[in-house]
Amino acid sequence: MTSIWDDFPSHADVRQAFQHALQRGRLTQSYLFLGPAGVGKQRFATKLAQCLLCFERPPGQLDACGRCSQCRPFQACTHPDFLRVDRDPGKRELTVAKFIGERDQRGKAGLCYELSIRPAAGSRKIAIINDADTMNDEAANALLKTLEEPPEEALLILIAANLDALLPTIKSRCQTVRFSPLPDEVVIEYLQRESLVTTPEEAHWLASLSGGSLVTARQLAQPGFREIRQDWLAKLALPSWDGLQTAQELASRIEKLGNDTAEQRQYTLWLLQAAAEFYRSALRGLLNPASSGAGAANAASWISRWSADVDQAVDLIGDLLERCIVATVHLQQNVSIALCLEALCHDLSSRASVSSSR
Ligand SMILES: [Zn+2]
Repeated sequence: MTSIWDDFPSHADVRQAFQHALQRGRLTQSYLFLGPAGVGKQRFATKLAQCLLCFERPPGQLDACGRCSQCRPFQACTHPDFLRVDRDPGKRELTVAKFIGERDQRGKAGLCYELSIRPAAGSRKIAIINDADTMNDEAANALLKTLEEPPEEALLILIAANLDALLPTIKSRCQTVRFSPLPDEVVIEYLQRESLVTTPEEAHWLASLSGGSLVTARQLAQPGFREIRQDWLAKLALPSWDGLQTAQELASRIEKLGNDTAEQRQYTLWLLQAAAEFYRSALRGLLNPASSGAGAANAASWISRWSADVDQAVDLIGDLLERCIVATVHLQQNVSIALCLEALCHDLSSRASVSSSR
């Protein structure tokens, strides 16, 4: 028998939990789906919604028939009782208008208004709020009123990656459902299916860097980013390089690559991660010459310049790693990408070359 979950085998544990809740009549009205970006929270929420709206759901099963008068409009994205709130393209926040309408229509439009109207077709209205962790305070307070007293037929699913960005009052009104990173094999299968890689080795390598996120895997697989990363690692392996020039080149290439500052910041973080991994490989190579791994050859040739003085090399690598961590913290604290890269590249290039000429 086919199931609507056939093409989405991930998060079987969460599915099981919802099936039990459904069998026991214990579904609540507000859920918070929490987990890293790109692990399928939204897709899961959409399938769950179809299951709950389906008129011919197999008894006791969290599934949908795919044919009934609810499933057909659902699959055509025209179901009147399935609502979704998304951030507008290019915007950083979910605004209050999404919940209670624009200024001239306050209380007469938006999600909270829609939920207050009885379902058109069945006995439920289901709403998904994407990027709920980007609601501004005004939006969150508008939604809070609905969460405090949800209409009887309403079921809300808030989707978020960052729990700290949600108001405590919002969190406490929702039942949290945690989504784990996807296993490597799911990411590998995705990269191959979407033709984002040319060899199985590439797919394995990118999956290992992706943190179990399809969004991350897709961004890391971008040819533009892979080129920058490769050039960056080659630069780190040089006996001496120009820190300022490298930083400026990196910043300008990243700016062209990322659609917005958040994405550019993320790419920069991955470059910092790559540098840290490079130095860790060097350290492993230094302490255990038989070791191997990603980037080991590059790092091994770089560290061979210090092989005569292991203590000095270990100290230096410690310093360089610490510098990568500091830069990561600065970047997360919203220091500008250009400034962050300039300081980092200055320190990495000057410390490594000063030490090698000692
Ligand atoms: Zn159905």
